[in-house]
Amino acid sequence: MTSSSDDYNFNSGYDDAEELESLDIDGNGDVDEAAVRTWDTTVNADVEEIGFDGSAKPPKPPRKKMGAVATAFVTVIVALAVVALAAGAWWMWQTRWRTVHVSVDGTEVSARADTTIQTFLDANDDFGRTRGRLLSLKGKVLDNNGGAPVSVSVNGTAVPVNDYAVTTIADAREMTVTPGKDITEAHVSETRTKHYGTDINLNNGPIQVVTQQGEDGEEEVWIGKRSKEEVVHQETKPMRNLTVKSFAPQPEGKKVIALTFDDGPSQYTGRILDILKEKKVKATFFDLGEEALAYPQLEQRMVKEGHQVASHSVSHPYMPDMSRDELRKEILTSFDDLENASDTKTRVLRAPYGAFGVQQWKDTADIVDMNVLWSIDTLDWKRPGAKAIHDEVLKNAYNGAVALMHAGGGNRTQDIQALPSIIDDLRKQGYSFVTIDELCEMGGVPKPAQGKE
Ligand SMILES: [Zn+2]
Repeated sequence: MTSSSDDYNFNSGYDDAEELESLDIDGNGDVDEAAVRTWDTTVNADVEEIGFDGSAKPPKPPRKKMGAVATAFVTVIVALAVVALAAGAWWMWQTRWRTVHVSVDGTEVSARADTTIQTFLDANDDFGRTRGRLLSLKGKVLDNNGGAPVSVSVNGTAVPVNDYAVTTIADAREMTVTPGKDITEAHVSETRTKHYGTDINLNNGPIQVVTQQGEDGEEEVWIGKRSKEEVVHQETKPMRNLTVKSFAPQPEGKKVIALTFDDGPSQYTGRILDILKEKKVKATFFDLGEEALAYPQLEQRMVKEGHQVASHSVSHPYMPDMSRDELRKEILTSFDDLENASDTKTRVLRAPYGAFGVQQWKDTADIVDMNVLWSIDTLDWKRPGAKAIHDEVLKNAYNGAVALMHAGGGNRTQDIQALPSIIDDLRKQGYSFVTIDELCEMGGVPKPAQGKE
């Protein structure tokens, strides 16, 4: 660059040094004062003579007054600037540069005032406090550091986690740092139907009763987004089990027995009704629907003479072999047949052969109130002789017993022969005769919980 400036001297058009040298009149190297004054005069005269428009300029106002105002103005500006700088510096000092001493859980820790809580925590390794854990819905640890950050309280006031990065420690005197709380994973919620179960106990006695209808429930299930765990959060509708209980009623302070006759009505049933009428005994008839329709006058007589009429199916099928639909149709039709024959309504059943298990109850609990078995089986259908039938009843009689005999389904002559002595001899032992409904009433059997058909 130096050499290039030697080659091209852009300032050489007017060389001050050269000019001043020319004013060194006496040649001693100093600029001659008189000569400078002369030169100055000459230049000033030239300026005064030539204006831009060629005319002479008016005389300038005195410079001294203008200078005083400007000086005052500048002084104020400078003073203001100094104050502003001082204020700014003070502010910076207070909020940023100053060193703050914070008592963190009793230990003094220092940092610049503009340190954020987040930086303060990071620089001090969270003061040894740990983050919370991320837990599954069932409480399993999914992530040891997945929970809430440590929580900070400044001068007694909790600082929201979201403010850690924007809040400085400038005003902090005391700080408390506590371990972060555990967080439970996020979840989705589902409403699920809870299908009812069954509570069916048929082992406690001959009289089986529906005590509670089955009812589906509903529950809110939470599914952990991360763990996929499923937890029942709440039951929104209670589920109720279908409940069937069995009873052996033994009315307190009584000595009662229920005589029951199956498979009628038939050509033998009229003779049985005659004996019962003569002996003033009420019994229970489990009739077949098709026989009731064949002998409607007998069916009507049973009702009229105060006996209980209930169903023994339409045509005596083995019910466990039937589908749900077949079974329901069989039972409902038999109820209708009895109603059509004798204008009486019943929801009480004695299943043929007594064959009625848990599945049959599940299939029909909404249409059947009660299934009635027996406690004394006369085995009369084997026709063992009138005496054997009589003896079987007398031998096994007890308060609350249910004796099984037949009014149809074959030749019932032996039953007709045995019946008067059965009644007379039981009476001699102090027994009185009741229908199934009366036995249940006296024995405290709960009323059936009827379903909606
Ligand atoms: Zn039968």
